[in-house]
Amino acid sequence: MESLDSFFESQLSKWQTARDNYGALSRVWTRELPSLKLPTSLRIQCNPARLISTGASIDKDSIATRPCFLCSKNRPEEQQSLDLNDDFEWLVNPFPILQRHYTIAAKQHRPQFFLDAYATMIQATRILSEEYIIFYNGPKCGASAPDHLHLQAGIAENIPLIEYTKSLKATDSIQAIAPFGYLVYIIHDAENSRIFHQLYDSLPILEEEYEPRINVVAYHKGDKVTLIVIPRQAHRPHCYSAKGDAKYLISPGALDMCGLIITPRLDDYERLTSTQAIDILREVGVRTEPTIDVGIMQGKEISFTLNTQYTSNTTTYNNGKYTALLQEGKILFDNKFYNELSFIHSIEDSSFSLHGVTIGKEFHWQQQETQTFQGSLILRIIDGELHAINRIAIEDYLTSVIASEMSGTSSVELLKAHAVISRSWLLAQIKGDERENIKDKSFPEDNSQFSSLNSQSIKWYDREAHTHFDVCADDHCQRYQGINRKVTPQVHEAIRSTRGIVLSYKNEVCDARFSKCCGGQTELYESCWDDTPHSYLSVVEDPFCNTNDPKILSEVLNHYDQSTDFYRWTVQYTREELSELVRRRGGFDYGDIINLTPIERGPSGRIVRLQIEGTKATRIIGKELEIRRTLSETHLYSSAFEVEKQENAFILHGSGWGHGVGLCQIGAAVMGAKGYNYKEILHHYYPEATLTEWYIPSPQCPSRDDC
Ligand SMILES: [Zn+2]
Ligand SMILES: [Zn+2]
Ligand SMILES: [Zn+2]
Repeated sequence: MESLDSFFESQLSKWQTARDNYGALSRVWTRELPSLKLPTSLRIQCNPARLISTGASIDKDSIATRPCFLCSKNRPEEQQSLDLNDDFEWLVNPFPILQRHYTIAAKQHRPQFFLDAYATMIQATRILSEEYIIFYNGPKCGASAPDHLHLQAGIAENIPLIEYTKSLKATDSIQAIAPFGYLVYIIHDAENSRIFHQLYDSLPILEEEYEPRINVVAYHKGDKVTLIVIPRQAHRPHCYSAKGDAKYLISPGALDMCGLIITPRLDDYERLTSTQAIDILREVGVRTEPTIDVGIMQGKEISFTLNTQYTSNTTTYNNGKYTALLQEGKILFDNKFYNELSFIHSIEDSSFSLHGVTIGKEFHWQQQETQTFQGSLILRIIDGELHAINRIAIEDYLTSVIASEMSGTSSVELLKAHAVISRSWLLAQIKGDERENIKDKSFPEDNSQFSSLNSQSIKWYDREAHTHFDVCADDHCQRYQGINRKVTPQVHEAIRSTRGIVLSYKNEVCDARFSKCCGGQTELYESCWDDTPHSYLSVVEDPFCNTNDPKILSEVLNHYDQSTDFYRWTVQYTREELSELVRRRGGFDYGDIINLTPIERGPSGRIVRLQIEGTKATRIIGKELEIRRTLSETHLYSSAFEVEKQENAFILHGSGWGHGVGLCQIGAAVMGAKGYNYKEILHHYYPEATLTEWYIPSPQCPSRDDC
């Protein structure tokens, strides 16, 4: 270590470029990217000196024609080397990200191949002090010289994943974790290469490549060497090659994957949000099944039963009944005060029950009951109230939700289609919520827009995002009652066989909307909500939803009433009735209604703007939901109607039920009954979208024997 230190000092004293760049390193900008759901904040570093390596062309031709900067014959005159072993030597990296940033280069020019560097990596951890890390970037995982075998090393300060793994208790020789939503393996005692080789052999090698895509980081504490292996799915994120504002010059290597994101451009440094950062890392890493935080109940007191053993802050709680109280703005539990409490399940089939959960909120059948949940229990104070939040794996959550929302008689293909759109919708919402949580000013949350330019009132309504959890358990989001007794084998099958599959468009999960019945043609997103076009929610002719088949209708409609007629429907009001209704429901006095005139329609015929002409005033209202609310005691089936004006009455001739955007549930049920599979159903309603396996199941180690 001493000779290495003096080598470094001597290089800096002789080499102007290196000296300048290390001087600049102490002045690079770094900022935190906080997020509610991650165990630690990510960080971003603006490092202009990295422009050459981040922007490096590493395609075969560019590599072949440029002189290799790691070969001794091409190195700058000032650059010297220090022997590490027979095959490798230390070089001072003249474009540092870390303090004392070394390149450990092979003496011979040969391609990046980790197995040839493994022993040297372990040896280097021994030479360096505990504050250092040594890392490897695979040829398609951030290496700017994929043709010349090398490792890098440097002092690790505030690198999120390193701090996190150092704080972890080693429970096994190898652990699979996903603190940032992508897969990370930790090998706690890497001296024993058997475990590493087992892992390495289990990772896929892509066609035309010769090793699995990985980043590897090593450090030591005492005589134990820890190895972090991060498998990679993609070389560079899409934003790297995007144009205009969508472009971010970020080409993740090991440090980025450890939560220290490097960008050479100040503009990218300033713009990047937590959500974008997480998305970039998840895109190039291997996404794991996310968990979702569901707000279940709130009050001054929460009583619950742990049905199995749980741990909280290293304390183990046995099964039994417990109560947590809100006192002096803190959580009082077990005679201690907490700001927040998490009960983490310790075995696979654990569950807890919450007592006094209110169901049917604001309905006549509102009542309280005990509900049982899988996953973890989080107690959190939100706006002066104690909240019970269930953190649960998304697939388990979806199983419960699909069982509640769909009829047990539905065809499996319909259930599968629904599983995919519920999963997609949910992931799109969570993303929105992460965005909301960081309260970034560049993303104003505008769910309900109101413009009252003189005589127009155009409003739309979208689900208002929660700020301290992802979704609630009510109909506001999706009805969720924990472990659901109604889960049929068909529901399990639908979830299992579509696990992780979502609709995606241009590498983003689709906000997959759906409604009861489109009426023959689907509608555009912007006819119902804000004006942002969603290309994957295109207009589709639907020959399927014109049906009276009670069996099919009962698959989709929870409380199916045979008299329900909604493909084509009629509503009739006397002039008096209509005038009174519109005044009361619309909150505006038009006098006696003289005329209803559609001003703008969407492609399905849904009225986007409707002019209401009265004896006292004339005004235009919109969008579709506001029109449906104004013209009915509850809601009109849809805003797709023609107005027939009679002497003293108005007849509305309508079609369809709901906003009509995205999948048509009745049509999908008919397709299912006709033998179409879920892929065909989804392709029919979302022709622009692609089915993509978005994440792998919860992290698992390669060999179960070792876990
Ligand atoms: Zn070389
Ligand atoms: Zn909600
Ligand atoms: Zn339809």
